[in-house]
Amino acid sequence: MTDPMNANIFSSVTPNVGHSKVTAMHLKRDAFLYVRQSTLRQVLENTESTQRQYALQQRAVALGWSIEHVHIIDCDQGQSGASAVDREGFQQLVAEVSLGHVGVVLGLEVSRLARNSADWQRLLELCALTDTLILDEDGLYDCNDFNDRLLLGLKGTLSEAELHFLRARLRGGILNKARRGDLATPLPTGLVYDDARRVQLDPDQQVQQAVRLLFETFRRTGAAFATVVHFQREGLRFPRCERCGTHKGELIWGKLSSSRALQVLHNPRYAGAFFYGRSRTRTWPDGSRHTQILPIDEWLVLIPNSHVGYITWEEYEDNQQCLRNNAQAHGIDRRKSPPREGPALLQGLVICGVCGCRMTVRYHMRQGKQHPDYVCQRKHVDHAAPLCQHLPGQSIDAAVAQLLLQTMTPINLDVALAVQQEITARQDDANNLRAQQVARAQYEADLAGQRYRCVDPNNRLVACTLEAEWNAALRTLQETQKEYEHHRQADRLLVNDEVRAQIMALTTDFPRVWNDPHTTDQNRKRLVRLLLEDVTLIKTHEVTLQVRFRGGATQVLAIAAARRSWQTWVTAPEIIQMINVLLNEHTDQQVATILNERGLHTGKGRTFHGRIVANLRRSYGLKSYYERLRDAGMLTVEEVTKVLGIAKSTVKMWRKAGLLRGYVCNDKGVCLFEPPGLDAPVKIQGKKLAKRRRFPTPEFILESTKEVQYEA
Ligand SMILES: [Zn+2]
Repeated sequence: MTDPMNANIFSSVTPNVGHSKVTAMHLKRDAFLYVRQSTLRQVLENTESTQRQYALQQRAVALGWSIEHVHIIDCDQGQSGASAVDREGFQQLVAEVSLGHVGVVLGLEVSRLARNSADWQRLLELCALTDTLILDEDGLYDCNDFNDRLLLGLKGTLSEAELHFLRARLRGGILNKARRGDLATPLPTGLVYDDARRVQLDPDQQVQQAVRLLFETFRRTGAAFATVVHFQREGLRFPRCERCGTHKGELIWGKLSSSRALQVLHNPRYAGAFFYGRSRTRTWPDGSRHTQILPIDEWLVLIPNSHVGYITWEEYEDNQQCLRNNAQAHGIDRRKSPPREGPALLQGLVICGVCGCRMTVRYHMRQGKQHPDYVCQRKHVDHAAPLCQHLPGQSIDAAVAQLLLQTMTPINLDVALAVQQEITARQDDANNLRAQQVARAQYEADLAGQRYRCVDPNNRLVACTLEAEWNAALRTLQETQKEYEHHRQADRLLVNDEVRAQIMALTTDFPRVWNDPHTTDQNRKRLVRLLLEDVTLIKTHEVTLQVRFRGGATQVLAIAAARRSWQTWVTAPEIIQMINVLLNEHTDQQVATILNERGLHTGKGRTFHGRIVANLRRSYGLKSYYERLRDAGMLTVEEVTKVLGIAKSTVKMWRKAGLLRGYVCNDKGVCLFEPPGLDAPVKIQGKKLAKRRRFPTPEFILESTKEVQYEA
């Protein structure tokens, strides 16, 4: 296939500088030699090939390039041409070619320069555009020459085909073995090959028990996570076989993780089934490889009951169904999750009115009881964005329960069922209409068919027209039928007979069942699910609930936004007002006593005492009785002693005797005194204090003020 002219060049020892394809313009530019070996092993062992690659340099020199203008690109050594792993050298080559810096590209087998045919064709295109020559051991090629281009294209295709056949031969053998179930694929922990290459249960009893326990726990709990929790709680370990690394083949006992449990539950080998081709690996443009698990009907090979297992194939299929149902609670387009044990009535039914995601339930403990919160956290979990909405669930649950009890009265249900019948009747009407459309299309198709069959076959022109008409009629018929079927399915989805029967059965004693303390939360949730499709929540200054019933009816409720827990503890503002008034004439303890006598309580529902009043006083910035008396100009004992020039004991004695007026101004018994004024008492020898009394005794003052307060 080589050009005789080219063969001539390479067979001759003397350089043929005047070759027709090499022009002065080519020689002005540089030559690039691309050197590559696929694997590092080839780089080390196949030095012959490398030698040949470097020898090409001499050919460029022979064609007229000076040795210093021949550049060698050999940074791709040890990189496979078929893989998409970054090959900087090749990229550099392409860049130089496209910039028009290259006169000739040299390579041992140029068609293997590129990793795949597409890259190769692109390089040829660029070489043609920039008028770059290509040289390999077989000859010199000009990409603008049709024959050369054809040859280079063929070479690229052939080298790709070579790779393909190599792979196909390998894969064909593997597939044949796999179809017979004879392929020895790696076995999961708990299964081993015996000497005759048959699959057996692991003779290690501990491993067997661990695997059996996992399946038993799943059977009992029905959830992979619950299985993990059980293992965790019981402190059990689960075996894992190292597949690579220094400990390859060793059995490692570790904690059971969710992903590990799912791996075991999803693996058909534990059910005695042989499988092959469960996943598909794709190479992406950036060179990364992505593995995707295929649905079971797309697996290449699946042979149930081909060896011993821990569970039956039927149980495996049940497990898969169960896991699928559980998984409905996850993912972007999550549907309803199954009702669980917690008290959140709307678990799995709430939708966020802000972003449209399904909301999840969180519980918090308050006073030893679980309280639900509805949280929209999908974006929070996925991207660490702030929580979208967070709503306390108690009042929402109560409102929905109230709504259901109101709705489930016999009168309402009569109306609802009448409407249901009406809808069904209307559906039937529409259905009849659509059925008629189908019949008509059928008739027209038949007619067109008949017309076509009646025509003289020799009259080709008419026959062709009639055939086209017949085809069109058949197409219309097919479309009408499809639409008819689609609508019929949609109508049936609205409320099917089963759901209707369940609703009917509930009518009689819904409130009784609902309020029965023996009804579990889970059952109450099942009742809700029979009636409601979903509930959308939006929180503004209040909480709006859009309740969607089965069958499509909606109801909008608005409830006050739940108060924060500290807000529920706040003492009523009227009581604070009252404390402010009472403090004009009473100490903290006295105020507390009065409030208790009036039957009032703190925000937390406790009785008052002095310390609580003092705390409230400080929180609200109210002045104490002491401060109020001081503001009114009352004097302390020390001040009175100074004014009157008497001892402290005399002040106390005079107050007791009614010579000075003093008030107990706090709960420690500290007194403040009215200023003595101009007619202040003075010391008089020999006159009894009782005879000089000017004010009633302090005890009497206290009693009288209390009575005044009673009247107030
Ligand atoms: Zn949201």
